Amino acid sequence: MKDFSLEVRSTLASGVTDRFLRTWNADPALRLRLDERPVGISRKAMSGNGKHSLESIYADALHTKNDIPFAGIIDKKNVVREFMRGDTGCAGYWDWRAGTLISSATTRARTAGGRITLGHTHQKGYGAICSDAVISADELLFSKRAIIEEIRMEGTFTRYCADYCELHAMTKHAPMSQYAWILSPAEEQTGVFEIGNEGMITYHPWKSVK
Ligand SMILES: [Zn+2]
Repeated sequence: MKDFSLEVRSTLASGVTDRFLRTWNADPALRLRLDERPVGISRKAMSGNGKHSLESIYADALHTKNDIPFAGIIDKKNVVREFMRGDTGCAGYWDWRAGTLISSATTRARTAGGRITLGHTHQKGYGAICSDAVISADELLFSKRAIIEEIRMEGTFTRYCADYCELHAMTKHAPMSQYAWILSPAEEQTGVFEIGNEGMITYHPWKSVK
């Protein structure tokens, strides 16, 4: 599980962001930034919570080749105290709003006084970064998913790909935080970033804490 912020740091130092985005099949309209303040992952969140642990989600996404949505509870010190696994999707498709993930995470966040951080997994060839997969015209026209309606209203789909649009719309309202995780286990990458406006995503290093 390598920290994707290390790659972001060397890319920003080299100044060739376009090639980096192409290499990892990332949304070409993204702008990258790095904030050196780390995001912590508690032992419970990393490995001490059975199938809800980050390590378990990472391993299952690698072995089953299905994408898994998840959510975490992040505290005021920017430490993720626990993760919660959502309903497994298939390669390239998953939905945070399937099942009870968001409602359980909202309850947990309110009880713990924390905020929600969303996450999902990527397949081989796709980095731990918002991907270049686009929302199809059919989906925009015919989908009944609530998130598609929000994205349509935001208008972000004309400039950005699906991951950015979805995260931007999903993280607008409390108790959501701007922090988001993408795991690309086939590429051994784990990344956490803040989703900003106008395509800006700000990576943070992550570290295991107690
Ligand atoms: Zn994605």
